Amino acid sequence: MSQDDIDKPDYHHILAAVDLSPDGDTVARRALELAREFGARLTVLHVTANLIEEPAYEFMTTLPVDVDIQTEIVDQAKASLKDLCRRLGDEDIHRIVEVDTPKHGILDVARREEADLIVIGNHGVHGLELLLGSTANGVLHHAPCDILAVKVGG
Ligand code: AMP
Repeated sequence: MSQDDIDKPDYHHILAAVDLSPDGDTVARRALELAREFGARLTVLHVTANLIEEPAYEFMTTLPVDVDIQTEIVDQAKASLKDLCRRLGDEDIHRIVEVDTPKHGILDVARREEADLIVIGNHGVHGLELLLGSTANGVLHHAPCDILAVKVGG
């Protein structure tokens, strides 16, 4: 066995975290390329906010949101993921819509689905993001596996 064989990563399940902006296509496309290269499974994940139980910040009170609205948002996200996979040329790609904050949703699904590589977009951190922390940054610090941060946003 050569040193190259030892160092080469061997990914089996790649998780692409997409935010449904045009950047999502960039992230998913890169993940698909890698999945093909490694012969790995690919899951495309979008996380939607839980409007019913958890306000985004402690100082917010929970709004009386109809369960139907939450269902509608999840259904729309599922349809958007399906469209994204169609644009990638493969409607059979495994898709998950999770209800949570983006950071926790991505980390939970990565653990649950035993992903060994998370592909995520990275805008670079500036302005308000510096205070709040970007999603990529938050995921990076708790990731159970490797992460590829794809430069997005021009
Ligand atoms: P942001 O921190 O909003 O700049 O997002 C950076 C990256 O985090 C995005 O390019 C996605 O890869 C991922 N991300 C952000 N929000 C979501 C979300 N709601 N669901 C899944 N991934 C997300």
